[in-house]
Amino acid sequence: MRKLFINGMINSIDENNTRHEAMACEDGKIIAVGTSEELKAKYPDCETVDLGGRCVLPGFVDAHIHFLDHAIYELFTASLYDTKSPDELVEVMKKYIEEKQIPDGEWVTGFGWDQELYPDSAWPTCRDLDKISDRHPMMLTRRCGTICVANSAAMKIAGIDKNTPDPQGGELVRFEDGSPNGVMLESAMSLIGNCVPKMSDRKQIRQCLEFACEEMVKNGITVAHTEDFTSVSDKRTLWEVYLEMAAQGKMPVNLVLQLRIHKPEQMDEFFDFGFHSWEEFGKIKIGPIKFLGDGSLGAWSAGLNEPYSDKPDTTGCLYFDVEEMSAMAKRAVEHGFDLTIHAIGDAAVETFLDSCLSVKDEIKARGFRPSVIHSQIMNERIFEKYQELDAIGLIQPMYIHSDMCIADDRVGDRMKTSYCYNTMRKKGIRLAAGSDLPIESANVMEGIQVNVTRQHLSGYPEGGWYPEEALDLLEAIKWHTIYGAYVSKDEDKYGSIEVGKQANFVVLSRDIFDTPKTEIKNIAVEETWIDGEQVYKA
Ligand SMILES: [Zn+2]
Repeated sequence: MRKLFINGMINSIDENNTRHEAMACEDGKIIAVGTSEELKAKYPDCETVDLGGRCVLPGFVDAHIHFLDHAIYELFTASLYDTKSPDELVEVMKKYIEEKQIPDGEWVTGFGWDQELYPDSAWPTCRDLDKISDRHPMMLTRRCGTICVANSAAMKIAGIDKNTPDPQGGELVRFEDGSPNGVMLESAMSLIGNCVPKMSDRKQIRQCLEFACEEMVKNGITVAHTEDFTSVSDKRTLWEVYLEMAAQGKMPVNLVLQLRIHKPEQMDEFFDFGFHSWEEFGKIKIGPIKFLGDGSLGAWSAGLNEPYSDKPDTTGCLYFDVEEMSAMAKRAVEHGFDLTIHAIGDAAVETFLDSCLSVKDEIKARGFRPSVIHSQIMNERIFEKYQELDAIGLIQPMYIHSDMCIADDRVGDRMKTSYCYNTMRKKGIRLAAGSDLPIESANVMEGIQVNVTRQHLSGYPEGGWYPEEALDLLEAIKWHTIYGAYVSKDEDKYGSIEVGKQANFVVLSRDIFDTPKTEIKNIAVEETWIDGEQVYKA
């Protein structure tokens, strides 16, 4: 089927961002660009869509997202984002249990609290949670996703008491008498997390994936690099539901699956599937194995080389040393899997890059493109290792917005080489954007605004936070389009509006190139088109 799109302000986001007025597509692919008159003459008698002079960009790529978790949190978890004190958290949870009529004995989960928003930055403890219910085991996860608080009923089920030691790479925070206070950091979270039943019902999984797809297209996201396998009890079931949706034409977005593991032996589960990185199954593409390198900056658990500036007794968590991770990298690559990692601190990033360098020849021979998710605290040595590997940083622009109030305190002088995306660009280091939804919002316009202003969305600080690291607008847009396409070796398939590529694009409410930088966040995605079909209209 041939289709003509005329009278638009189509930004190709090719090398020089050539602008076109019109484009033609056939069977989901762009076959021509030009003026409306030219294309109307060339392709008479075909379905014509008048874009009404509006601004068009290529469909967005989100290079790191927890697409299924987002749906689980929205549909089956209490939202704690708006709570302003532990008492309010208690009230919200009480109401949630009542409204949902959750039977006694059933697990209750919540997500999104942040002690930084509470008076005196007070952490909620099991004493608060026990006021909610002693009949429901409860796990409430902090907004970073790497810390939780549990009630006494949950700790009882998990067998956590005074005598439980801190696991490697984690901590049970304790009251003065040594008994755990319910707060669990990093790997300690799994003591509780392993007891919470994971989603297993095929219908529920399907419901969540459909919800997640809708959320994507609303945000103009046409490709999502999502990490879902750890959210379900059975990986096979999830895999079957993906394939079933794709086969039924119910998977509008392209998915790239990031395969997260916590322990080396968990890689075998993915080897057993018989697939390998960059293999395609219709709209679904197998991505890299994802290691877990460290925690978060907010919780002083990102793995640093030197102690935290505002907590000199710790360097954070580091899940693996170079030797362990190199062994993992070798096995993964030999089995045909590319590599990525969650790494925020310089020690975690460097450990990963060193591991990749230990199998560099193999990585090059297979045409792999290793990447680092987050990659926030950096140093000159790391830049060189990035260059040597041609590794890609999968960055969350919204972390600039969220972290600017803590990052200077946490790492002091190291800020000179951290969150320094313009510097990295100048060094030729490849970067692409991922939202990390549900940790941050998936709104691409907000991400672009933050990258070009280096300000909190509220406008703070005046002039920007390390403003020399602001990106120019075209570069910021490329993070969400063509650079994102590169991550999964799809730069010839989508990411810009060029002949031969998938007709994936968004129609915006305003010309982004003619909008004051601080108003970009107000631009709405009015329509999303994938393979030449409209999948969303506001
Ligand atoms: Zn993530």
